[in-house]
Amino acid sequence: DPVLSLSGLTKSYKRGTPGEVTVLRGADLEIAAGEVVALVAPSGAGKSTLLHIAGLLDTPDSGIVRISGQDMSGRSDRRRTATRRRDVGFVYQFHHLLPEFTALENVALPQLANGASEAEAQARATDLLARVGVAERADHRPAALSGGEQQRVAFCRALANAPRLLLADEPTGNLDPGTSDQVFGALMDLVTGTGMSALIATHNLELAARMDRVLRLEDGAITPVE
Ligand code: ADP
Ligand code: ADP
Repeated sequence: DPVLSLSGLTKSYKRGTPGEVTVLRGADLEIAAGEVVALVAPSGAGKSTLLHIAGLLDTPDSGIVRISGQDMSGRSDRRRTATRRRDVGFVYQFHHLLPEFTALENVALPQLANGASEAEAQARATDLLARVGVAERADHRPAALSGGEQQRVAFCRALANAPRLLLADEPTGNLDPGTSDQVFGALMDLVTGTGMSALIATHNLELAARMDRVLRLEDGAITPVE
């Protein structure tokens, strides 16, 4: 089964009002195990809406979301949340790290919440931080880190519980171009090194070209980009 399968998704906001905005008009997508897929979309095309539906943070008006072959449609909020916490990692343009905790603690906390022991969580956090080149920054709080370092830590946090699927929304969008390239490379190494699948939204076509496939979201539908 594909790790993520979206079929015939439709979504409108403010349905049935004069301000109705139709964002998705039958969007289809499949991501196989280990595949890293780029999603490019003009601003306002519905990229965040699509990622939120794929990550079970929002529901479509119609269509089916399957995670590892399992149809999520009829599931209770509680079961959707459980699936999201186990199977999906999120990365945003801004890091959303907890300011009062160190880098290491930010990566360890989701593991502790998931039942890991303190020793396991610390060991995995240390390993993840080392893999993205910020091991020596582990004991600093986010405010003491550069923008690029903050994003690297956010990637580690997203992967802390070893999800099958990473959903990233402009993960290097707030960094300057030189830093963005390096930090993006760190994300790609992390993802390919763990064999997970990823859907990564970006405006940067050079970064997109480094992924296995490039898809475009436009006019509410998803099409391949050659
Ligand atoms: P993108 O991430 O591609 O910029 P979004 O998914 O955020 O696009 O938004 C797609 C469209 O839906 C935009 O026109 C946006 O203004 C609109 N939209 C997004 N969220 C809401 C909402 N909660 N209520 C009404 N309109 C929304
Ligand atoms: P937690 O397990 O930490 O309580 P949740 O299960 O609520 O987190 O959410 C999982 C991920 O989705 C987190 O990375 C969180 O930042 C993100 N998230 C939760 N709600 C929203 C939302 N409404 N919009 C965007 N991202 C969200």
